[in-house]
Amino acid sequence: MGKIIAIANQKGGVGKTTTAVNLAACLAHLGKKVLLVDIDPQGNATSGIGIEKGDIDECMYNLLVEGMKAREIIRPTNIEHLHIIPATIQLAGAEIELVSVVSREILLKSALEPIKEQYDFIFIDCPPSLGLLTLNALTAADAVLIPVQCEYYALEGLSQLLNTIRLVQKHLNTSLKLDGVVLTMLDARTNLGIQVIQEVKKYFREKVYDTIIPRNVRLSEAPSHGKPIILYDVRSKGAEVYIELAKEVLARG
Ligand code: ADP
Ligand code: MG
Repeated sequence: MGKIIAIANQKGGVGKTTTAVNLAACLAHLGKKVLLVDIDPQGNATSGIGIEKGDIDECMYNLLVEGMKAREIIRPTNIEHLHIIPATIQLAGAEIELVSVVSREILLKSALEPIKEQYDFIFIDCPPSLGLLTLNALTAADAVLIPVQCEYYALEGLSQLLNTIRLVQKHLNTSLKLDGVVLTMLDARTNLGIQVIQEVKKYFREKVYDTIIPRNVRLSEAPSHGKPIILYDVRSKGAEVYIELAKEVLARG
């Protein structure tokens, strides 16, 4: 109960937000109680789930910097069983404002503690960096899920990420597990994608999820409509694979 999964990779554009939004929505669709936590100042998960910027009063900034309670910030979404802690660009200043705060890496963990058991899954959508916001996510999490884009430099930068995970495991969160690697944006028409899959599997072995997310236009269109793929086009390949991934997450426990 109450499993917290951080979706992290300091590379931008690898499918973190797409995976966070759609995995959260698919698990909610399967009847699980899910909380989506946006800790990226870009707020892409927030807008991707249909929350308008002008419509946000309190967000992750108020939680981390002002110490507001999670329950005061959590809000429902258009999807049944799916709640969100939104983020706005205001969060961009948080790393600097928190510089002198003691225990600044455990702020998110402490904030999620009281509400954790109300959910089956909590997904944290990380920013594309290994700074304080991502550290907060990794410290709060039970597990980390790494999206890896099926492209030529797929493994580049991953050793840095794994190193950060090891440091967090050593100093901040001894129970953090590397849950798995999700391959994203596979272009099945090229051999390159197949090569990358082999390379990533050689390195991460059974940690790699069987479900591979292909490139799918409907997946890239959905965020501009403020909808997860299951609401935007439930019959698309994108919806099919994210439901499959959600089932695999459930099966792996
Ligand atoms: P990140 O959060 O890691 O920066 P995103 O999830 O925002 O990455 O994805 C980057 C871009 O690629 C976005 O425009 C998104 O809509 C698009 N995208 C992500 N996954 C897919 C996919 N499987 N097929 C097509 N477009 C995708
Ligand atoms: Mg993102």
